[in-house]
Amino acid sequence: MVMTNIELKIKQLYEKSPSARRILDAIKLEASSLDRTVNIMNFCGTHEWTITHYGIRSLMPDNIKLIAGPGCPVCITPGYYVDLLTELSLEGYHVLTYGDSFKLPGSKARTPKSLYEAKMYGGKVTVVYGFHDAIEISLRNRGEEFIFFGVGFETTMPSTAIPLRDGSVPENLAILSAYRLTPPVMKYLLEKHPEARIDGVIAPGHVSSVIGWRSWLFLPEEYRIPTVVAGFEPLDVLLAILAILRMLNKREPSLVNEYKRVVKPDGNQHAKDAMWRVYKVVDAYWRGIDVIPGSGATHSNEYRKYDFFEKYRLEEKITEDKLPGCRCPEVTLGLATPLDCPLFMKTCTPSHPYGPCMVSVEGTCRIWAENIPVLKRDAIKDSSS
Ligand code: SF4
Repeated sequence: MVMTNIELKIKQLYEKSPSARRILDAIKLEASSLDRTVNIMNFCGTHEWTITHYGIRSLMPDNIKLIAGPGCPVCITPGYYVDLLTELSLEGYHVLTYGDSFKLPGSKARTPKSLYEAKMYGGKVTVVYGFHDAIEISLRNRGEEFIFFGVGFETTMPSTAIPLRDGSVPENLAILSAYRLTPPVMKYLLEKHPEARIDGVIAPGHVSSVIGWRSWLFLPEEYRIPTVVAGFEPLDVLLAILAILRMLNKREPSLVNEYKRVVKPDGNQHAKDAMWRVYKVVDAYWRGIDVIPGSGATHSNEYRKYDFFEKYRLEEKITEDKLPGCRCPEVTLGLATPLDCPLFMKTCTPSHPYGPCMVSVEGTCRIWAENIPVLKRDAIKDSSS
């Protein structure tokens, strides 16, 4: 294989680090004992950023493929939620959103398609850094009705659950719980999309710090898939890949916690207690994909008065929200790469995102788009095809 200049520079950079060199040599050795292609899925968008930004794909032996997984909550947030909030913001309700969801397109072709566009048309939309900002704004403006757009995985849920449990959320602040749970989507992917052919999983570090590494035990125990909960430094990811290859060679799938400095077996009990007092598990729709059993969270009876759908007597609906030409659902499930999308870096760019995977910094399309100057496109394509 002829190396491009960029690949060569990345290789030289890693060779300067004795630890990285040792791990890479060990990866090469393990890979040579596996006479087949091995697909390792990194669940989390932040892992995808590390892999792409630091050129880790280009360092892998030819038979090791690193596949981006469903770890971007903005990418899978239903378009219907955006449609509703966009309309309400134009009717005078004040929508509070994280910056990551601000440009998320809804399911409708007409303008305004996002909260960002709604704000340009006079809609009441404010970007907040966290739920504590949403509480402060609502407390300062008691005569106004606010809606917080709660997008995220288990990592984000405690930020609303703890203030709700502690009684510090004013009644003029409702929460649209777009929260989604991560283990059920992995189960769904393995059951419904065996064509993804996943041989190993790098499980999410941040999420696991809340839910605990035991939550991923089903992967080796039920599906015989080697799994490593990993941190986000390049060496963390390399170690995770090495551990997965070793387990594959030994034919002894298990769960390794590489991120011991942060992740405990049962996670953060304080956060989990608050989460499961305030929320209850429901089946939930993932944008463009499916309704996934047990993968969502709605407010429990005690906290229903804060629930957006309850407060405004609206029904959750599933609308057609796969945008024409956009391959985001397949990218999210690891069945396609951004380079398989004809719109990538043409009509869909980080400054003008068309599809949901180009919006958030955790979206695979956005990550690949922002790292094209760092990584040669062909190098990415080689290792993902
Ligand atoms: S490049 Fe844009 S349009 Fe294509 S899959 Fe990604 S987000 Fe969707």
